Amino acid sequence: MSAFEQQPDAGGHFGPYGGSFVPETLVHALEELEREYRRAQSDPGFQKDLLDTLRDFAGRPTPVIEAKRFSEAAGCRVFLKREDLLHTGAHKINNTIGQCLLTKRMGKPRVIAETGAGQHGVATAAAAARFGLECVVYMGSEDARRQKLNVERMRLLGAEVREVHAGSRTLKDAVNEALRDWVTRVRDTHYILGSVLGPHPFPVMVRDFHRVIGIEARAQFDALDGGLPDVLVACVGGGSNAIGLFHAFLGDAGVRKVGVEAAGHGIASGKHAARVPEHSVGVLHGTRTLILQDEDGMVRETHSVSAGLDYPALGPEHAWLNDQGLAEYSSATDEEALAAFEALCRLEGILPALESSHALAWTLREGRTLGEDARVLVNLSGRGDKDVAEVLRVTGRG
Ligand SMILES: *Cc1c(COP(=O)(O)O)cnc(C)c1O
Repeated sequence: MSAFEQQPDAGGHFGPYGGSFVPETLVHALEELEREYRRAQSDPGFQKDLLDTLRDFAGRPTPVIEAKRFSEAAGCRVFLKREDLLHTGAHKINNTIGQCLLTKRMGKPRVIAETGAGQHGVATAAAAARFGLECVVYMGSEDARRQKLNVERMRLLGAEVREVHAGSRTLKDAVNEALRDWVTRVRDTHYILGSVLGPHPFPVMVRDFHRVIGIEARAQFDALDGGLPDVLVACVGGGSNAIGLFHAFLGDAGVRKVGVEAAGHGIASGKHAARVPEHSVGVLHGTRTLILQDEDGMVRETHSVSAGLDYPALGPEHAWLNDQGLAEYSSATDEEALAAFEALCRLEGILPALESSHALAWTLREGRTLGEDARVLVNLSGRGDKDVAEVLRVTGRG
């Protein structure tokens, strides 16, 4: 384990980013959450329940494998951290299990969540069912239409799905609605936020529930090939899978950390979800961070072929890592991600999520520059079964 520990200040600030911008009614709930979370961290009983559930219900540890045929195509050695093998299909279950256990600890019977494509909603519904919690998931009606199967999965898992008809009827509107629900039912309800976003303590808490990715990967890589990888690569929506991988390596200056945002139709087109290149600071959904906004501070429409990366705000800790040069951020277009998706399917027999395909796309693009001996560890954040219809549609085969 690396001795380097990066923590926000007591108010949840990562340098100029983070903090807590919420209505008065939520201040108490957030303080209570932070207190319980701190206690749980040093409670062996909680940690045992968490580890047992991650092992027996989610399927941890996930393996690290060398992708030899994909490596040939990339021109460098590529290793994959297989978060795609987890229950419900992505890393998101690490966080929802942790937050459901905290909810039980706080004595609350009900959880709510927002979801875009439905992955966080499904992971929340599954964990809520496992722990006997009432579950309501807010989802934009446009997203619900596009992701019918996930809506039905959530319902089968016992969750109530509430469609949101406001705004662009997508993720940011679902977050607004979930926050509204929380304000009115904060006594009996916990809001399970789905990424390293939102007011303190969510960014640090969600990060900590995903740190297991990097802690496992560090030991597994050493056992498999010796030492540390040269480069870590992960896609960045809010940034939870990326920070989960990076965190255990932050003290290792020799390990490059690359976060890959969604360049959509290309940065110049304006139709993308890459927050770092514009570096515009604002407040969205309770946190100060880099967001895509116009000159009047209005949040812009974003675009990505992958719903999980299609969000206007970047997790505040990533904004800080970027400013300090502790991690670097790049992007991949829809087209590059689709090519990488097909490459992994055919060369390795693995259908990657379109989100994860952005990290694979960076590796295919930069591999030859890195050189054939370079060892690149890619976080395969999720599986692509959910994306089959979308891939067929955008490639004109559906
Ligand atoms: C939701 C999701 C993401 C994006 O979320 P982060 O918080 O940036 O990790 C990435 N990959 C998959 C498979 C997802 O489901």
